[in-house]
Amino acid sequence: MRRQWINRCKNAGFEENEAAAEVDFAIEIICGLSKEDLLKGKTICGADKEKIDKIIAERLKTRRPLAQILGCAFFGGKKFKVNEHTLIPRPETELLVQKSLELIKKYNYKQVLDIGTGSGCIACMIALDSDAQVLGVDISTGALRCALDNAMGMGLMNRALFRKSNLFSNIQEKFDLIVSNPPYIPLSEKENLQIEVRDFDPATALFTEDEKGIEFYEKIIKIAPSHLNNGGSIAFELGIGQFDDVSRLFNANGFIDIEIYKDLSGIERVITAKYP
Ligand code: GLN
Repeated sequence: MRRQWINRCKNAGFEENEAAAEVDFAIEIICGLSKEDLLKGKTICGADKEKIDKIIAERLKTRRPLAQILGCAFFGGKKFKVNEHTLIPRPETELLVQKSLELIKKYNYKQVLDIGTGSGCIACMIALDSDAQVLGVDISTGALRCALDNAMGMGLMNRALFRKSNLFSNIQEKFDLIVSNPPYIPLSEKENLQIEVRDFDPATALFTEDEKGIEFYEKIIKIAPSHLNNGGSIAFELGIGQFDDVSRLFNANGFIDIEIYKDLSGIERVITAKYP
């Protein structure tokens, strides 16, 4: 069955490894079986076969991402709920979590703000792997509901909190660390995106009005000093080629110790800076 599903995806234009990853993800979520389980001889029951058939048909017909069809995605090895109001967590974002956790440990940070929390994947992973308390904010009520579900599901009720806020609009407190994976794709690039992203990820999570995609970095960096405790930091995920502009913004607004980290594809993906 697995092979047949993979071939169906390949006939629809998927590469072998993409097709296999998608099929394995569906099997794992629907039947709780890994590829290894199948190799060891475990079988998929008839009802599940039918479910997966339908899921793959929908995936190929509509191009809706599998994570949205299944309602979940893996991030940092944990299963997160997602919905049509949340960006599907990307593997690159795990680097942002990792660098944030390093800062939290190095400076003993306790209060963290996650701006544009979406599914809450960043907020939850930070709360899970540190002693810090995380406040996740988002402009979207649908996203906040999803983030709250994820935090509850992971037993993080008191450690990851969520609130509706447009950037800092509803925030009075100060924090040790502000983390964000904000929208960073210029709207003018919309037509170049793959259909799965262009038509299904929420536009408010993807696009900026400005040509460089740095609108949200600029807004956050300018206001952040009044919401950071002494010696606090900011950590951002970046889009391709945004490092120069964002470090200039940090410099111009009095930040120091600017560090940049590359992802597995060699792209400058995460930037961190400290407010003295
Ligand atoms: N912070 C969320 C994530 O990384 C959402 C990001 C976004 O919507 N731009 O998945």
